[in-house]
Amino acid sequence: MGDTIFGKIIRREIPAEIVYENDDVVGFRDLNPQAPVHVLFIPKKPLPTLNDAQPGDAELLGKLLLAVADYAKQEGFAEQGYRAVVNCNEHGGQTVFHLHVHLLAGRRLGWPPG
Ligand code: AMP
Repeated sequence: MGDTIFGKIIRREIPAEIVYENDDVVGFRDLNPQAPVHVLFIPKKPLPTLNDAQPGDAELLGKLLLAVADYAKQEGFAEQGYRAVVNCNEHGGQTVFHLHVHLLAGRRLGWPPG
């Protein structure tokens, strides 16, 4: 499985502003934020895309979403709201092939996306 820039962030080989970490998940600020809060949550196990997740990854996927909600509560914007997004492959706009959830918050977000 190919390594990505996110693997390097997990291993602290390149700098990132890591704001959340537990045994399975790392959260760090997006370099090109699309909202006042834009944090990427990634599993330490590097699945390239959501398509690569297997039934055995169900617990890990759950932990990824729970990490997002945990961070939102910790930072105090859970009640006001936020968006959690997974982009998959070309039409989803995925550019880094290490599964990640975008957490966007801090402003009212438009829907539907463009
Ligand atoms: P996606 O287009 O869903 O694959 O999202 C990839 C995201 O990673 C984009 O929002 C980028 O701005 C972000 N990104 C790329 N490289 C880095 C990096 N070194 N540190 C933080 N965010 C990054």
